Amino acid sequence: MAHDAPQATGSGKLVIRNIGLLLSGALEKPILDADTIVAENGRITGIGRWKDVNTDGATTVVDANGTTVAPGLIDSHVHPVTGDWTPRQNQIGWIDSFLHGGVTTMISAGEVHMPGRPRDVVGLKAMAIFAQRAFWTLRPGGVKVHAGAPVIECEMVEDDFRELAAAGVKLLGEVGLGGVKDGPTARKMVAWARKYGIQSTIHTGGPSIPGSGLIDKDVVLEADTDVVGHINGGHTALPDDQIRCICEGCRRGLELVHNGNERAALYTLRTAREMGDLSRIILGTDAPAGSGVQPLGVLRMVSMLSSLGEVPAEIAFCFATGNTARMRQLDCGLVEIGRAADFVVMDKAQHSAGKTLLDSVRLGDLPGVGMTIIDGIVRTQRSRNTPPATKVPDLVGR
Ligand SMILES: [Zn+2]
Repeated sequence: MAHDAPQATGSGKLVIRNIGLLLSGALEKPILDADTIVAENGRITGIGRWKDVNTDGATTVVDANGTTVAPGLIDSHVHPVTGDWTPRQNQIGWIDSFLHGGVTTMISAGEVHMPGRPRDVVGLKAMAIFAQRAFWTLRPGGVKVHAGAPVIECEMVEDDFRELAAAGVKLLGEVGLGGVKDGPTARKMVAWARKYGIQSTIHTGGPSIPGSGLIDKDVVLEADTDVVGHINGGHTALPDDQIRCICEGCRRGLELVHNGNERAALYTLRTAREMGDLSRIILGTDAPAGSGVQPLGVLRMVSMLSSLGEVPAEIAFCFATGNTARMRQLDCGLVEIGRAADFVVMDKAQHSAGKTLLDSVRLGDLPGVGMTIIDGIVRTQRSRNTPPATKVPDLVGR
């Protein structure tokens, strides 16, 4: 497990050449006409054909060998605690394992598995600030974990949100996992959070583990969080008519998670597509959870939604990259000049029936990850977790 300096970025010049297929992460143009990416000091500075971009002075050269490059995947819904350890299933190294599944950024939906988690106001604020600081400094394997997501309690006042924001907290944990489970109180606190620049999400559906509760469509719509957290349940989903009410009753993000109800995820996807609202779909795992830790969870969602939801694979990848980045105001997730140089390099898995990577995902197979790059630094080569990629990129020079 590599421990980086706080917010470490690559200080050199990275060139990725011989890209067979470049996915942008952007729904409006998911495939780019380019075979080369240049990044300097961890930021994308060039995208185009080899002969047209300035590759002079590269300090790291990756030959993609005709494979597919996409923005690093973003898991919109995780429950970290501290370090690269989860007490939920008592596993270490879970974040590093996700990196091998192509995930380069994670968003905490609350550090709810902390043993002895404090629920008094001063305690929950202290824990949120601690988690924000700790994951700002520690990046397991290089993965960017946006953590420090307090779970709101009824005793909180507006000043608590001002204080949290001033201390660097930018997220709320899932509304409903703490004492606040009613619409009016949730709405008041979510508005306070928004006033101070803190993003919010909510636990949608039945209780996930003993101790959590039901949050139905009325509470979700009244709370008006920025993201409708796991609209497909975590695991227990709301009835279809309630899911449709939420999709139609607000303009907020519609988050689909691996550890939810897959049929409800497909229903939400179809509803959003009918509404012309695919930009609202974002993906997460909701791991670690009772159903464990899924290093390939985001890839599995991409493949499931593409194959069973009849969405082109290049669009399904946008749900896990550009959509999330835009909704969460992240500087990664899109292959665009100025964005963070975070990439996953993939190819179709060996012996997949698909003719290409996109074809294989559309058939329900998982791609093989051949390399991950974060902030312009090569973090991993052939994945230890995905099925083996047919072709893998080479690190040809540094
Ligand atoms: Zn939840």
